[in-house]
Amino acid sequence: MSEQNPEEVPENTPGAGENICRNCEGTGTVDGGKCPDCDGTGKVIVPLGGA
Ligand SMILES: [Zn+2]
Repeated sequence: MSEQNPEEVPENTPGAGENICRNCEGTGTVDGGKCPDCDGTGKVIVPLGGA
């Protein structure tokens, strides 16, 4: 069990950004199981250029 704060995500990673997983809203859990989108981390790495 980790106690990471999903609100505090560094956004200055070169070449990639860490975003809160929208599938599980940062909880890492969906329907009582591990979120397949973020593999249970609650975060997803997305490439820059989406803005
Ligand atoms: Zn997720």
